[in-house]
Amino acid sequence: MKIENEDALDDLIICHQCHTLHEEVPIQDGSKALCRECGTVLYRYDSKLIDHGLALSLTALIFFALANLFPIVKIELLGHEQFITIPKTFMTLFEQGFYIVGLLCAFLIFLFPLMVFTLYTAVFLLLKLRRGRQLTKELLVLLSYALKWNMSDIFLISILVALVKLIGYAQIDMGVAFWALLVYVAIDIYLTKQIHLSEIWMLRKRIYEEQER
Ligand SMILES: [Zn+2]
Repeated sequence: MKIENEDALDDLIICHQCHTLHEEVPIQDGSKALCRECGTVLYRYDSKLIDHGLALSLTALIFFALANLFPIVKIELLGHEQFITIPKTFMTLFEQGFYIVGLLCAFLIFLFPLMVFTLYTAVFLLLKLRRGRQLTKELLVLLSYALKWNMSDIFLISILVALVKLIGYAQIDMGVAFWALLVYVAIDIYLTKQIHLSEIWMLRKRIYEEQER
């Protein structure tokens, strides 16, 4: 089915809990709209969300850079020392001829996480500057696709599992990048769970509507 006027759908909102359809009404800054049927929070309006989100996504990018530049762990086995870094994990796969796995790994633990937080930073920055009406729309759509493929949290868990298995066989020292990755994943989970994309979408609509007046 082809929707004639997609903008008309922007004014409707569905409750995630009971699936009641509501018409979106403007609310005051700092308040939230609740579902009439079940009381679930439908949306919030908080103009501070932009500064908050921008600060978080910039911090995440810094920690992501640290996580990639320094070794995650140092493994010492029979007097032989080895440093493991994020780029090294997929580069080793390439060197050993596992091109498809290496490529997949490079996308899931490096390119998508980098893309997600670069997109977050760009969107929040544009919203703060109140510019790029069309661009923010496209970036948010791209972000919704990229978010599904960011697997840093799964990578962190797999490192922990691998390290637990190595305990007793080798001496393991956590590197700077391990703690940086931990902070990065914490921000990642907080940002994606706390600030829903639909909230940024609404904030965007509101900002550009205010601008038109
Ligand atoms: Zn409801």
